[in-house]
Amino acid sequence: MHEERHFDPPEEFAKNANVTAEVYEEADRDRPAFWGKQAERITWAEPFTEVLDWSNPPFAKWFVGGKLNASYNCVDRHVEAGNGDRVAYHWVGEPEGDTRDVTYADLKDEVSQAANALVELGVQAGDRVAIYMPMIPETVVAMLACARIGAPHIVVFGGFSSQALVDRIQDCDARVVITADGGYRRGSAAGLKPAVDEALEKCPSVRNVVVVRRTGQDIGWTEGRDLWWDDVVGRQSTEHTPEAFDAEHPLYVMYTSGTTGKPKGILHTTGGYLVGTSYTHWSVFDLKDDDVFWTAADIGWVTGHSYIVYGPLANGATSVMYEGTPDTPHKGIWWDIVEKYKVSILYCAPTAIRTFMKWGKEIPEKADLSSLRLLGSVGESINPEAYMWYREVIGGGRCPIVDTWWQTETGQLMISPLPGVTSGKPGSAMKGLPGISAVVVDDAGKPVGKGEGGYLVLTEPWPAMLRTIYGDDERYKDTYWSRFENMYFAGDGAKLDEDGDIWLLGRVDDVMNVSGHRLSTTEIESALVSHPKVAEAAVVGATDEDTGQAVCAFVILRDSAGDGGDDIVEELRAHVAKEIGKIARPRQIMVVPELPKTRSGKIMRRLLRDVAEDREVGDVTTLADSTVMNLISDNLKGGG
Ligand code: ATP
Ligand code: MG
Repeated sequence: MHEERHFDPPEEFAKNANVTAEVYEEADRDRPAFWGKQAERITWAEPFTEVLDWSNPPFAKWFVGGKLNASYNCVDRHVEAGNGDRVAYHWVGEPEGDTRDVTYADLKDEVSQAANALVELGVQAGDRVAIYMPMIPETVVAMLACARIGAPHIVVFGGFSSQALVDRIQDCDARVVITADGGYRRGSAAGLKPAVDEALEKCPSVRNVVVVRRTGQDIGWTEGRDLWWDDVVGRQSTEHTPEAFDAEHPLYVMYTSGTTGKPKGILHTTGGYLVGTSYTHWSVFDLKDDDVFWTAADIGWVTGHSYIVYGPLANGATSVMYEGTPDTPHKGIWWDIVEKYKVSILYCAPTAIRTFMKWGKEIPEKADLSSLRLLGSVGESINPEAYMWYREVIGGGRCPIVDTWWQTETGQLMISPLPGVTSGKPGSAMKGLPGISAVVVDDAGKPVGKGEGGYLVLTEPWPAMLRTIYGDDERYKDTYWSRFENMYFAGDGAKLDEDGDIWLLGRVDDVMNVSGHRLSTTEIESALVSHPKVAEAAVVGATDEDTGQAVCAFVILRDSAGDGGDDIVEELRAHVAKEIGKIARPRQIMVVPELPKTRSGKIMRRLLRDVAEDREVGDVTTLADSTVMNLISDNLKGGG
């Protein structure tokens, strides 16, 4: 596909932007000096003596000798600076009218109480605490309380099963679990505590479970082990003196979403992570004092950790935090929230945008979205069609879009336009941010030229990089640092366009080989989504006797397309042939009502490959909704 459109930063935006074009050169001239300067954003209890120690690659140490407390940086220092009344979160619960504004002063009190409670429960620096919660303010409080006492947190997405919880608790040997009785999901209360109870039958080393009262539903109770948050946290002092920890002290472990297999415990540490997230939050989102920032993602995903919690709080920003799904209580809820809180920066995943496209533009058009000034996208490539819709319908044609590429492992945004500097091109994440060296290389690790494709690598360490896979240094080296010498291999395919800008092409594992031609899932999916009847598409390669692999596509139609008509399959095959070429024409296209996605909105292609190759569907524990696979197979049996 040939994307000719590009959008320069609006003049006013560029004039007032936080970052100018010179910053790229500044960072290239002296990378450590650049990051050393960004570290001034953080309050250090003891200054660092060296920016980066890379003497034992791939094990990095950033801000060597520095000491700090992450919770102090996210909370106390803003209160001390006189900003205690500033709203940290406009929290919107799922039940209508259930809202709460949490100021920085509120956060300081509650985090201190929770930290005191954890200390009372015997939690010490270095102990792991699992957090299995809905999207409520107490979840942030729990994370910051852990950070405050140096206990790494492991947030497990509240939609995961008890088995997923068992795997993670055992892998990191957590001793305390913080949870809630339940959470709201599509209008009804869904239990969390029961899943914890079930999980803990297999995790005898967990001593205590702290339970936030959220839904008020009946739950089981183990005397001596289980404690109500209201009791154990509520009776504590609101004073707690934070201790300064080493810059490399572990902050948290986050298990990757498992799109490709067994989740990996990604370890992030304190100093570099805070520098990387706060700098990118400020520069890429062009954060201003009066902005209202909304990352519409779950806290149980790295996007939530870095851009709902640590980045925005380190910057003293005001954020929106929303508990519910985009269709509860109605399909216009996001836009009502934007209007009500005058959200100025919205950050979400392409899957959400495509869902809104499917529902039609009449819904967002009912709300006043004029407060928006910048839009962001994360999680997968944004299809040019979805980009244009986001830009026009949500952004009113005036808001720049930042398409941000990064990973759980990278901790911070890595490849993205800078909204006041870089032009936006629908579908391209453009280039590495200042201080980041993102390169596309061929099989032999040589940089490719303009117009060529290959593998995305990072050739220099960066502050928020993962330090290892928890408890498994070998797997860390094997997974990321062994494919190419001295380079971080991201696992994604990418290409450079004629301007040298980067286009992400999907995971290398998903690349299809059809009669010797390498085809990208992203490109074929974008071609399908560019058809007016298609809302979403997922493409996989299935074994084929003649061609090695064959392209199989699963599509969701737009609401306005009805059942698509009798010829829909032929129409779409012809459309792909026209957009990309005959070689990319899907062998098979299946119209489905839903696609299997992780909680972060990513399509789990390995499950679709199972369907396409007609075998039993694999592990579904990390699916957002595990019934989706039944829906798909029923639909196909029904002659779809
Ligand atoms: P797992 O590694 O367990 O399979 P995951 O890779 O889905 O899970 P994340 O770390 O949340 O878990 O996702 C990072 C991946 O998401 C990237 O490697 C890339 O494939 C994709 N991605 C994220 N943002 C973008 C983007 N802006 N453009 C293209 N792809 C993106
Ligand atoms: Mg990954």
